[in-house]
Amino acid sequence: MFRKILIANRGEIACRIQRTAKRLGVETVAVYSDADANALHVRLADEALGIGPAPAKESYLRGAAIIAAARRAGAQAVHPGYGFLSENAEFAEQCTQAGLVFIGPPATAIRAMGSKSAAKALMHKASVPLVPGYHGPDQAPEVLQQAADDIGYPVLIKASAGGGGKGMRRVDRAADFAAALASCRREAAASFGNEQVLIEKYLLQPRHIEIQIFADSHGNALHLFERDCSVQRRHQKVLEEAPAPGMDAARRAKMGAAALAAARAVGYVGAGTVEFIVEPGGSFYFMEMNTRLQVEHPVTEMITGLDLVEWQLRVACGEALPLRQDQLSIHGHAIEARIYAEDPARDFLPATGRLVHLLTPLPSASLRIDAGVEQGDEITPYYDPMIAKLVAWGETREAARVRLAQALQDFQIVGLSNNLQFLSRLIATPAFASADLDTTLIEREHARLFGSAPAVPDEMLAIAALRIIGQDYQAARRGAGAAVWRSSDSWRLNAPAERRLYFRVLGQGPAEEPDRVVTVSATAAGFQMQFAGATLQASCSVTENGTLRVTLNKRTFDANAVIQGARCEVFAHGEHFSFEHADPLAHVGVEAIAAGGVRALMPGRVVALLVRPGTRVAKGEPLLILEAMKMEQSLCAPADGECVAFNVAVGEQVTEGAELIEFKLDPVPGLDAGSSSGAPAA
Ligand code: ADP
Ligand code: ADP
Ligand code: MG
Repeated sequence: MFRKILIANRGEIACRIQRTAKRLGVETVAVYSDADANALHVRLADEALGIGPAPAKESYLRGAAIIAAARRAGAQAVHPGYGFLSENAEFAEQCTQAGLVFIGPPATAIRAMGSKSAAKALMHKASVPLVPGYHGPDQAPEVLQQAADDIGYPVLIKASAGGGGKGMRRVDRAADFAAALASCRREAAASFGNEQVLIEKYLLQPRHIEIQIFADSHGNALHLFERDCSVQRRHQKVLEEAPAPGMDAARRAKMGAAALAAARAVGYVGAGTVEFIVEPGGSFYFMEMNTRLQVEHPVTEMITGLDLVEWQLRVACGEALPLRQDQLSIHGHAIEARIYAEDPARDFLPATGRLVHLLTPLPSASLRIDAGVEQGDEITPYYDPMIAKLVAWGETREAARVRLAQALQDFQIVGLSNNLQFLSRLIATPAFASADLDTTLIEREHARLFGSAPAVPDEMLAIAALRIIGQDYQAARRGAGAAVWRSSDSWRLNAPAERRLYFRVLGQGPAEEPDRVVTVSATAAGFQMQFAGATLQASCSVTENGTLRVTLNKRTFDANAVIQGARCEVFAHGEHFSFEHADPLAHVGVEAIAAGGVRALMPGRVVALLVRPGTRVAKGEPLLILEAMKMEQSLCAPADGECVAFNVAVGEQVTEGAELIEFKLDPVPGLDAGSSSGAPAA
C-alpha cells in the first residue's frame, strides 16, 4: 500500500478519500486554494500545501502546481477525486512522468472516453448499443441539420467534450435547429474549449441507469451493479439510488456485460462508470463513460459493504481486485440526496454564504453524511455549491426512503438558500415514493414541489416567540450576574407584563403574508400566547445540547430556533420557517440614534439592562428592557457599535423621549470623518 498520497481536490470528496486513507494507515497531503486555507479537508489532512488563488483555473486546475506539491511532500500517488483534473489525460500523463502514480485509469482510456463522439464510435465497434444519432467528424451545419432531420425530432445536441449537464440543447422542430446549434457551440467553446457536437434522438421519459465497473492491471474486471440516477434537474443528478427499482437479474447481467465490454474496449483499469439511458420498455443505450469515482458512489458502497476508494488504492498499487464477480451481492437499498446551496424556486440558482448554523443528524451504519464543511464555513462562488451528501440505507427501498426523509428533517441549515425543503418534498412525492422514476419526475411533480407553502402555523410563531423571550430573559439574568441560558429551568416574564411581538414570514414566495402578531402574557405555568384566531398555552426549557423543549397546549416536543440579528429560524416537526422579528421600539432607536443615543418611545419602567456599559454589540442585539403600557419591549442596538453607558437604572421610571442609552456607532467609511484611518471627510 502507498505510504503517502496527495489528494488533488477539495470539499466532501477530499474529506471522504482521507477517511479511507486514514483507515488504511496511508498519510494524506491536502492541497488548497487561498479560499480554502482553513477548509475542513485541510484541517483533516496530515499535511497541506497551498497551490494558488481561489479561482479553480489558478489552483485546483493547475496540474503543474499540484505535481510540484506532491513531489515536495514526498507523496507516491495522486488521487484526483471527481471534477477538476480527474478526467484530464494530460494531467494523468504528467503525474506518471513525474514518477507519481495517478489513482485512476490509464491516460489512453481517459482520452478514448473524453470525447463523447469518439467514445460512441468506439462503442459501436464493441457492439455496445447506442442511442440513434450522429457522432461523425463532419461538423458542417447542413450535415448536422440533415442528421437531425433523419433521426426525427425531438433531438438533443450535445457538446462532445461536455459534462455536468452543460452544453446540451433539446430541439423539437427542424426550424429551431440552426439557432440551437449555434448557441450550443458557443457554450461548448466557452465551457470546454471545444466546439464539436453530436446529435442524439431525444428520448422521452427515459431513465438514467449507470453501472459501476472496476478493473485491475491483471486483466480482471467486474461490475458492482447499477445505480438509478433518473431524478435530475437541468440534466444534473439530485437523487441517486441502488439498486435500480424494477431491475431484474437478466437485465442487470446484460447491462453489466455491456458496461464491461465498454471498459475492455478502452483497456480500462480502476473505477469507472458506464452511463446508460433506458427506455420505458427496458431497451438501454450507452451515453458516456465517466473515467473516475462518481459523486454518487456511496450508494454502491452501502449496498455492497465495500469501500471503493480502498479498491482504487489497491488497484493503483498493482494489486488484483479483492473479489470476483460471483462473490458480490446486493444487500438492501440505499438512496443519496445531494444537499446544495441553491434556490430551487429560482431555477436552482446556486447560492453562496456562510453556514451560520449547521446541524446534521447523527450518522450510523444506515445513515451516512459526506460533508466538506462545518458550521461557520463558507460556500464561496468559486466552486461547486454542494454542501453535503446524505445517504440512507434500509432493508427495502421504502425503509431507506423513510430514513432519508427523517434525516432531511433533522438537517438544519441557516445562512444561505438550500434545497433541503425541496428534497424533503421530492422524496415524499407519490412518483418517487412509488418508484415511478424517469428524468421528467421533477417536471411532472412541479405543482407539489413548487406549490405555495401552506400558511405558517401559529405553533411555529410560538416557538420563535419563546426563543426571543428566552434570549431577552437570559440577557437579563446575565446582566443580573447569573449564568442561565443552558440551565433547564423554564423562563418567565415578569408577571403581569404583556409583550407583543411582530413577525414577518420570510421566503414564502412572491405573495408575502401580512405581518403576524402574537401577544404574550405570563401565566403561572408559562405563557399565554394570543394569535389572530387562537390562543396557545406555552412553556419552554432548554435541553443540554441547546435545543428547546417546547410544550404547546400540553403537547411536548423538541424544536430549534436560531436568532441572527432580526431573523429567527425555526426548526420543528421536520419543517423550517424563517421570520423577521420586527421590534417597533428598535425602529424608534434607529431614528433616535441621530440625536446621540437610544430613547424611550413611551413612558415606562426599566426592567433590565442587558449588557455592561462599554460592551461592543451587533446591530439588533437587545440592550435594555422597558415595560410600558403593560408591554415588555426590548430596545436593541440600532447598528453595530458600542453601548457606552446607561443613563437609567433598573426599576427607574422614564419619560417619553428620554435618552436611555448612550450609544456610539461604529465608523462608517466615508460618513464618519476622522474616525477611520486616513479616510477623507466627505
Ligand atoms: P456525476 O455524474 O458524478 O454527477 P458530473 O459530470 O455532474 O458527474 O460532475 C461531477 C462533479 O464534479 C460535479 O458535481 C462537480 O462538483 C464537479 N466538477 C465538474 N467539473 C468541475 C470543474 N470544472 N470545477 C469544479 N468542479 C467540477
Ligand atoms: P453529462 O456529461 O453532462 O453527464 P450525459 O450525456 O451523461 O452528459 O447526459 C446527462 C443527462 O442528460 C442524462 O442523465 C439524461 O438525463 C439526459 N440525456 C442525455 N442524453 C439524452 C437523450 N438522448 N435523450 C434524453 N435525455 C438525455
Ligand atoms: Mg453523464
